[in-house]
Amino acid sequence: MRKFSVSVFRQQFPILQTVNDNHKLIYFDNAATTQKPQAVITSSVNFYQQSNANVHRASHFLSVKATTAYEQVREQSKAFINAKSIKEIIWTKGTTEAINLVAHSYGMNYLNQGDEIVISQAEHHANIVPWQYVAKVTGAKLVVLPLTPQGIIDLTAAKSLISKKCKFLAINHISNVLGKINPVKELIKLAKQQGAVTLIDGAQAIAHLKVDVQELNCDFYVFSAHKMFGPTGLGVLYGKQELLEEMPPYQFGGEMIKKVSFSGTSYNELPHKFEAGTPNIVAVVDFGACLRFFDNIQHDQMATYEQQLIDYVFTKLNDIKALKFLAKACPDIPLFSFTLQGIHHQDAASFLDSKGIAVRSGHHCAMPLMESLALDGSVRVSLAAYNTFAEVDYFVEQLHLFCSGEAEQSNQHRIHDHREGVEQADVDRVISTNAEFISADEVLALFSSAKSWDLKHRQIMLLAKQLVRLDKALRNEDDLISGCESQAWLKVKFNSQTKQLTFQADSDAKVIRGLMVIILSVYQHKTGQQIIDFDIEEYFSHLGLMQHLSPSRGNGVKAIVERIKQIAYNYQ
Ligand code: PMP
Repeated sequence: MRKFSVSVFRQQFPILQTVNDNHKLIYFDNAATTQKPQAVITSSVNFYQQSNANVHRASHFLSVKATTAYEQVREQSKAFINAKSIKEIIWTKGTTEAINLVAHSYGMNYLNQGDEIVISQAEHHANIVPWQYVAKVTGAKLVVLPLTPQGIIDLTAAKSLISKKCKFLAINHISNVLGKINPVKELIKLAKQQGAVTLIDGAQAIAHLKVDVQELNCDFYVFSAHKMFGPTGLGVLYGKQELLEEMPPYQFGGEMIKKVSFSGTSYNELPHKFEAGTPNIVAVVDFGACLRFFDNIQHDQMATYEQQLIDYVFTKLNDIKALKFLAKACPDIPLFSFTLQGIHHQDAASFLDSKGIAVRSGHHCAMPLMESLALDGSVRVSLAAYNTFAEVDYFVEQLHLFCSGEAEQSNQHRIHDHREGVEQADVDRVISTNAEFISADEVLALFSSAKSWDLKHRQIMLLAKQLVRLDKALRNEDDLISGCESQAWLKVKFNSQTKQLTFQADSDAKVIRGLMVIILSVYQHKTGQQIIDFDIEEYFSHLGLMQHLSPSRGNGVKAIVERIKQIAYNYQ
């Protein structure tokens, strides 16, 4: 096996060569999904070109070929996590579906009133909501384990909270927000001592740790292929055979059936009992290529390199005064969540995006954790072994620049502008007299000279200043726009004489305020009909801002536009 070399490793991921708007792609959103090596991409093409057929169903040679390739990957997966048997490897479409499968099949059938389901404060929604639902239906109670300030599940608290009533423990191996390895082995042991069944959400661990399910002694272990350089649409549910044998199927139809008649149906054996319908065959085959790719990596050396990255990023970020990590400890995987004093996380992420750096901002599907930290989100930077020190240097340099630029602006703002927190009377005045709102022609002129994404982004941030802020007392739930990663509010006034609508909008994120100004440049003081007739997509396309109207909930602009259109319909 070859020595791990980041440049050789990196070359295997073609997407990393991307240059967008003169910026080389720096992909720091690996906790959301990792990029795919050529081996996985080629596997997909080869399968469709040479082996495509449905699995298990037919005896023709193509089906045999597809089925053999498909089932072979179950063997590989068994070896990868050291399961005892291939019967313990169930294909799902991801971690989320795997947890849902266990929640429905086990939770709904074996948990009862008064039983306790124990999770932790730092779970992904995928490991909260299914259990919340099970608890609601069965009458079981959800118990939440607290964290230490270092961001791991508090073992001391767990010792008292995991009681005889605990019938199920569902916790993450590594949090997707905090990046710390939880003491899962000890927690599994505690739960076992009370006779509970255990599930470990390994979505963030699988790419970084050697997972041995027998050594962990968990009952279920779940992960997604796409977070470990594999395909999307595929997850693994590992379950102990004796438990899976006992559990009823989760979905019905296809290969999970042995015999069907109107007098009754018998189910197939494991693992097929849990795999209804045509599976994601190509993803399974590609996952085989991914596991071979994994086998060829010098894991110790890769882990050493990842550790160097962790130390490097941690030290560099610690130098940024405005930056505050969510946990008071260096993470165990290269995943860093932080806030920047006085700066909205979405503004930081959109600035970095304008420099070609892909990071994540928001609640990271862990709203209860954010709530416990009294935050509405953070920036998350997550690296993989193909990222380099040079990328880190560039990122940190840009972050420094951004923070100092923002600090300077907010000082100026304090001196020159006292409009934050205006009173209701002021809002009414602005809403009714805001005839001087920037026009669409002016916006078009501004953007026609801003060619690069960098400049467009700067322009959006400058436009943000045009929006009069809403007083906090006026930001109520009714005006809150769902679909935005940052908080955004929209108020409306209707003039029954002119039939015109006047909007007042605000957001915590400057980038959203800037985009709101652009939206309002065409919608402000217009009738419902004029708003409906206006082609906003064409307008955004002219401005070169179509990415902001994407259905991604990342920026929520689409949600704002939809809300305005909805209002316009009501006032037509
Ligand atoms: N759990 C954790 C800890 C995760 O990080 C994620 C993905 N962000 C999930 C569950 C859900 O994974 P998927 O979307 O692949 O089902």
